[in-house]
Amino acid sequence: MPFALHKGSIRLAGLYLAIIMSISIFFSVTIYSLSINELGRGLRGPRSVIVRPVGPGFSEEIKNDILRERSVLYTEAKERVLARLIVINIFILIGGGALSYYLAVRTLKPIEEAREAQNRFTADASHELRTPITAMLTENEVTLMDPKLSLQDAKRQLASNIEELQRLSALSDGLMRIAGLENRTLQKMDVSLQDIVDNAIHSIQTVASAKFIDIDKHPKKSNVTIHGDSFSLQEVFTILLDNAVKYSNKNTKISVNIQKHQNEVTVDVVDKGMGIPGKDVPYIFDRFYRADSSRTHQSVQGHGLGLSIAKDIITKHGGTISVKSTPKKGSVFSVRLPLVKD
Ligand code: ADP
Repeated sequence: MPFALHKGSIRLAGLYLAIIMSISIFFSVTIYSLSINELGRGLRGPRSVIVRPVGPGFSEEIKNDILRERSVLYTEAKERVLARLIVINIFILIGGGALSYYLAVRTLKPIEEAREAQNRFTADASHELRTPITAMLTENEVTLMDPKLSLQDAKRQLASNIEELQRLSALSDGLMRIAGLENRTLQKMDVSLQDIVDNAIHSIQTVASAKFIDIDKHPKKSNVTIHGDSFSLQEVFTILLDNAVKYSNKNTKISVNIQKHQNEVTVDVVDKGMGIPGKDVPYIFDRFYRADSSRTHQSVQGHGLGLSIAKDIITKHGGTISVKSTPKKGSVFSVRLPLVKD
């Protein structure tokens, strides 16, 4: 357990224990005073019975003996009640302490996890920002120091700067989108899935054509209505199609298959690209995660944010997103969304 969490848990456990012990001590004092009252009434109360002689042989001495006896009994009973209450309170202190610590750890764990996720996110985002900035800075310094810098070299450097700036711009778009998704609610209404998928295919057509990649849709016309935010859902299919193009070779095919079931609809985006190694599959929906194969592939740019954004959006629509992939053969990304009941 991290030190900060341990310290926080102890402090919170102390607070819980203080509350438990205050209640316990309050009740103990109440029980003690009530018991003492009752005892007093039982053992010392009906003095009249003793004070008034009951028979001729009832001497003053016997009466005093009985009174003394009763007083001893009363003191002993008082001590016994006190001792028992002290023992009970010690048990409550030990049991309550353990329970308080357990509850404190449980209370603080999700807060600590959220804090850790936030720290990880900030560290990853800073790393992604620093890499292109450092590269640009070094390249520019080296270029500037070159006494024989030609116009061609300067133009090459500018082109490289623009490339890095485009990466930074894509990163800032992704970060803004994540912040937007966390802070805003989606504008949901009944929308046509066909329109959403068609718009996404249309938006990716130019990049796909540049790699001579055909995008097919099955069936060509489908009549499926879902309840959702059309802008965000279109973004999901654009991300999946953009990845399918990015991670496929030239002259391959991508297909989008829509299947309507009783309560849900499945949209599969199928490519014949590089696929994803099994060890990477569990993590590709995590923020900033990129499979080694795509990190080492210089021409394929990205920051590992697309799929995490897609997953966020689909989850907010009550759906799921999953992947089946075979390295060097291709991948199938499946989106399941609940259907609008007629
Ligand atoms: P990015 O593509 O910007 O790196 P994503 O979050 O969209 O980020 O994808 C995360 C990782 O998942 C990618 O880096 C890549 O390794 C892998 N990936 C996603 N889609 C595909 C695909 N269709 N084929 C192969 N790998 C993919």
